[in-house]
Amino acid sequence: MISHVGSNGKLEYKHQMSEIARVVVDLALDREFDYRVPPRLDSDVKIGSRVLVPFGKRKVYGYVVSLAGSSPVSNVKEIIDTVGRGPLITEAVLKLAHWISEYYITPFEMVVRTILPSAVRHEQSRFKEGLLVSIREGATAPRSIKEMEKRAPRQAEILAYLLSHGPTYMKDLTKRLKVANSPVRELKKKGLVDIASSVIRRNPSWGREVVATEPHALMPQQSEALKMIQGSIRCLDPAAVLLHGVTGSGKTEVYMQALQFALEQGKGGIILVPEIALTPQTVERFRGRFGDQIAVLHSHLSTGERHDEWYRIRDGEARIAIGARSALFAPVRNLGLIVVDEEHENSYKQEEAPRYNARDVAVVRGRIERCAVVLGSATPSIESYHNALHGKYALARLPHRVDHRKMPALRIVDMREEVEREGRVNVLSRDLRDAIESRLQHAEQTILFLNRRGFATSLICPKCGYVAECDQCSVSMTYHKKADELRCHICGVYRRVPARCPNRDCNDPAFRFAGIGTQRVEEVVSKLFPKARVKRMDSDTTIRKESYNEILGGFRSGKIDVLVGTQMIAKGLHYPNVTLVGVINADTVLHMADFRAGERTFQLLTQVAGRAGRGDVTGEVIVQTFTPHHPAVQAARRMDYEGFCDQEIEFRRELSYPPFTHLVCITMRGPSEGHLTYGGTLFAKKLKPLMPDDVIVAGPTPAPLEKMKGLYRYQIMVRAHSIRPVTAAIRDLLKEFKWPEKVRCAVDVDALSIM
Ligand code: ADP
Ligand code: ZN
Repeated sequence: MISHVGSNGKLEYKHQMSEIARVVVDLALDREFDYRVPPRLDSDVKIGSRVLVPFGKRKVYGYVVSLAGSSPVSNVKEIIDTVGRGPLITEAVLKLAHWISEYYITPFEMVVRTILPSAVRHEQSRFKEGLLVSIREGATAPRSIKEMEKRAPRQAEILAYLLSHGPTYMKDLTKRLKVANSPVRELKKKGLVDIASSVIRRNPSWGREVVATEPHALMPQQSEALKMIQGSIRCLDPAAVLLHGVTGSGKTEVYMQALQFALEQGKGGIILVPEIALTPQTVERFRGRFGDQIAVLHSHLSTGERHDEWYRIRDGEARIAIGARSALFAPVRNLGLIVVDEEHENSYKQEEAPRYNARDVAVVRGRIERCAVVLGSATPSIESYHNALHGKYALARLPHRVDHRKMPALRIVDMREEVEREGRVNVLSRDLRDAIESRLQHAEQTILFLNRRGFATSLICPKCGYVAECDQCSVSMTYHKKADELRCHICGVYRRVPARCPNRDCNDPAFRFAGIGTQRVEEVVSKLFPKARVKRMDSDTTIRKESYNEILGGFRSGKIDVLVGTQMIAKGLHYPNVTLVGVINADTVLHMADFRAGERTFQLLTQVAGRAGRGDVTGEVIVQTFTPHHPAVQAARRMDYEGFCDQEIEFRRELSYPPFTHLVCITMRGPSEGHLTYGGTLFAKKLKPLMPDDVIVAGPTPAPLEKMKGLYRYQIMVRAHSIRPVTAAIRDLLKEFKWPEKVRCAVDVDALSIM
């Protein structure tokens, strides 16, 4: 080792024999440490390698993020060992991880924890070894089979199997042919087969036969969309493509043919679908077209399967990764195409740090790897649509269903009239009741949909549909039970709860609306239709992993007449016999204390409507609401996506909401409300001067979800036209800010949910 003075004037120690690896250790310290690469590991340690290093008195795991010739530190320790085979993170994904760490203000190690499945990160799940049986080179199997058929039928059978199926693991061979090991060993003795130890791939779809499918001849609009995407795959600097196609318009077929094209160019692909849509149905469609080229990454696999599927991609054995959110980080080499299906879905946003949105990060990965990115949806998010209108994304449209089946008719039931007539709020309106009755008579199926995710915390007048809104912010005010107050959680204004409906023409004393749950709906339906077979599907009835598929299986095979459920049943399901969809209460989403409530309602109604009429009978959708004239409800009735967006975009512009600004939500929680308001106020005060003047900082105010698990929650909302100066300021302040005792703070950049 020799020392010299580095360019920065500091003394540096040059290591001649071995390089220096900059390592990020698994301790959330958000900094890099230097380690020497011992000569024996010289060829193994690369950027992205997982390594074991000494840290103080401990040994910890970490990743090599860069290599250097020298270190400014004098007492550099040595890397102990490497983990896994070869680098676990490609340089492109490493770049992406840095981007995420910056943009979402998250320590780099936490980002790495997200981008690598734990099955790969941890030591436990290594490769499994097994005995592979194959026909020996030069052995004339067909002749041997003939000879042995009489005397050794078992052995003949094994040879025949190997001849038609190729090399097979001993375990599978004995299981499939129901034979013991001995005849296989006998064949080895005769010099007809080889038995060798080999890595076993745990394949999640093993034994499941899929029907191979051929590409459809495309409809004209599908062809146009495909051409556009193919252009992107060929282009060196492509813009993302927004594929806006109604449900059943053949988007998936376009994705598959685009993938085919990418494969033909020697490139790979990634398909992202929302977790909830990642059913065996979806996977099988892709497997039917691409067979073993597909690797599935998904939380329902066993650890071993996840480990092996991941390596299949990294080693280039599978060229296409399909999975939920985190499949975006699959180590696909020479990436040609990323598809984000149902791009408007909130589940692409991770709710814990790093709070990234896979849809947005997909576009960034596309930029880093210069590959095509397709965002597809029947109801694209306002953000993406806005980007398309402004030429940031290219836009392709599929306005018709492939089979030219009519879109279902959507009928709005005004629940205020219902209350007027019946004198009370019924779960099912007369119209919906009659419609269910008629479906039961015709042996057709019904889906009843109820949104429960929105907290039933806004107050609504059952007579006139009045909802208390903030004058400043145009969001519903949230009812806080403890204080018996209405609050706007964007600006913090609060009001007493009025005793009568504040609408002067109404003035009804019944100004309170308690929400209903799926269980109540199930009860009501069962009571009204005692002969109907009713089933409920929500997070309570699907705790077991299999129950989801059990219920849907029962529904598919016609063993259920009426399926009651939450948004779990709103997505992607395809049941030809469903001719009626009822939305119990459109207002629960509409009156969430969130400026995206209108957009969510429109998306939800449109998606739910897509579940009806997939067979030969045109479907019907009945939507119950107290606010039938709300623009989102009306636009959904007319199936007018563009009209809705134009209006919504104007509304967002006026109030400086996304996409015109970035929204950063800083949530603080702690056991003492006093400490929260004190710390939050100080933080907001210090933050303001660090940012440009046009940045809006509001709060701290109590979060809509004011108390959770015994801890109070407060929020600071930041809205800014340009995000970089804001994240930089927040990051700097967080480094030096001393929070009062027991106060924790979480920062959500481009927040979607502000509960
Ligand atoms: P989306 O993804 O937009 O909901 P899909 O790709 O699932 O639509 O298409 C709906 C149905 O139409 C599927 O059964 C699909 O196989 C079929 N389909 C798609 N494109 C064509 C085509 N060009 N010709 C015939 N059938 C098609
Ligand atoms: Zn307000």
